[in-house]
Amino acid sequence: MSTDWTPTLWSECFEEMLDEELDSSDQWAFHFNYGLTEALTKEERRRGWRVYNHCAYGRFQCGGCSKTWRSARVVLMFRYRLRDTTARGTVLMRPYGQACKRCREEFELPGFSQNEVEEALLGLFGKIKKNCYDEDEEEEEEEEEEEDEEEEEEEEEEEEEEEEEEEEDGSEKVSRRPHEKALCEACRLGNCCQE
Ligand SMILES: [Zn+2]
Ligand SMILES: [Zn+2]
Repeated sequence: MSTDWTPTLWSECFEEMLDEELDSSDQWAFHFNYGLTEALTKEERRRGWRVYNHCAYGRFQCGGCSKTWRSARVVLMFRYRLRDTTARGTVLMRPYGQACKRCREEFELPGFSQNEVEEALLGLFGKIKKNCYDEDEEEEEEEEEEEDEEEEEEEEEEEEEEEEEEEEDGSEKVSRRPHEKALCEACRLGNCCQE
């Protein structure tokens, strides 16, 4: 998993998954907006904008001291809308950063594995299908429920261990610690994953 924020990984994955996930000839565009806010204005709502937040597992590196860390609570915010009149859809994405525990300066942007990117985009496409195309979110609901239960149990066990620090060379985990709100940009803006 890379510690680098890689926008192209996201836009390429989005393009690839678009055909598979959406059974539609509508044109969808994917953009980044690093100043995106969560709250939609009335006007934006009227124009069809919706918000989807995803909580992902990402990795960071401090630009100052090169320390690396991982977090299971990296928030990705998406805004999306489909304009029926033009058959054009738009997705805007904002990744939230985390600050280095030592330096406590800038928020570093997260790096992700391809799997994490696909999982986040699957969630997004699920919402788009449901809210823009009136499709049910998933057909295999029964199977999913079982899986969800198992996952929840695992998550509970790990609840107190959401962040991991690594040795300087990035090889060994030295400790696990709870999510640090003061170092999380999403927490600061009141938009972190729900507990
Ligand atoms: Zn640092
Ligand atoms: Zn947070």
